[in-house]
Amino acid sequence: MSLTIGILKESKDNRVAITPDNIKRSKLKDVIWWIETGAGESAGFSDSLYEGLAQTKDRNTILKEATVILTIFPPGDNDMAAIQSEALLISQFRPYQDETINTRLAQYSFKALSMDMIPRTTLAQAMDVLSSMASIAGYKAVLLAAQNLPRYFPMMITSAGSIKPSKVLVIGAGVAGLQAIATSRKLGAIVEAFDVRSAAKEEVQSLGAKFVEVAGAQDDKGAGGYAVQQSEEFLARQRAEVQARASKADVIICTAQIRGRKAPVLIEAETINHMRYGSVIVDLAAATGGNCALTENDKTIKVNGVTIIGNSSLECDMPEDASQMYGNNILNLLVHITKDGALNLRMEDEIVKGSLIKP
Ligand code: NAD
Repeated sequence: MSLTIGILKESKDNRVAITPDNIKRSKLKDVIWWIETGAGESAGFSDSLYEGLAQTKDRNTILKEATVILTIFPPGDNDMAAIQSEALLISQFRPYQDETINTRLAQYSFKALSMDMIPRTTLAQAMDVLSSMASIAGYKAVLLAAQNLPRYFPMMITSAGSIKPSKVLVIGAGVAGLQAIATSRKLGAIVEAFDVRSAAKEEVQSLGAKFVEVAGAQDDKGAGGYAVQQSEEFLARQRAEVQARASKADVIICTAQIRGRKAPVLIEAETINHMRYGSVIVDLAAATGGNCALTENDKTIKVNGVTIIGNSSLECDMPEDASQMYGNNILNLLVHITKDGALNLRMEDEIVKGSLIKP
């Protein structure tokens, strides 16, 4: 038996779900790879790089004939209608954000597995696209801030005088936040960070940053590593603490999110008036409302000399490595859900149970 795996070209993303290098290193046996013409181009992988590894096919052939179809974002309804009934579509369906997706998928017979629903356990770590993409976004956020900041990140002692290091405030010390801390530290900044999960404290400190504690945070160990909704009273105290620190910060990187909910607003409009001229806020929570009250999603604005960048998809700006990492995550999943050249979707398996949103 053999499995035909088709990689579709993304319509609104520079990345591709599988790179030539991913296929070369793949441990999957009995697989025929198909790639849609030009699918890897915008990530830096021309069709010629896939030669000898995957057969180039048109989109319709992949939709109609492949057994497994890989994308980064779900294809549109016309594409879904063309997918053969026995196929498995692997994508990021974000059912915790998109209320329509389950009803849309219910119209079709194919199965759907959502990479962003894979449980965040030790076993599934190698398949965790949320972590690999968040890590890129955290890194990029700091580079973007440094580029927009009219000041140095590191301390500089030169014959033209001494320059103080920049101060970076990181709100939310999950995967993106920790990477933002590490990158800011490498660039020489002084870093402080907030989080509501007590586990974050040690991680923040181990990266050489100061952990800012606001007493009374709710931390639920049963939430699968995620933060839980905080009380309005706690958030008000946190906003006041953020304001006190923001007035001394040169850069704020916002990453605080609560899965399936609107992001908490932790920087009030008034706080911007207390910030130094030229300071930069990069809000990675922009797509779910933003941690800054003034953030506009997918826009860069200036308010009182403060640049506010609202961008929740910075991983798309580093498409080559982002594709490579995404592809590795998918391959690790495929090894887990195939056997002897066929799909082996065991519902008793916690990874399958969590991610197969349309069995
Ligand atoms: P996320 O993107 O959902 O949220 C980002 C961060 O914002 C989190 O650290 C969260 O605690 C924080 N946050 C939420 N509300 C806040 C508030 N009011 N103030 C300050 N911070 C706030 O989270 P994520 O980066 O996807 O991951 C969160 C956690 O999940 C990780 O740190 C880890 O514990 C766990 N995780 C586990 C694995 C694994 O075991 N395989 C993999 C990845 C992540």
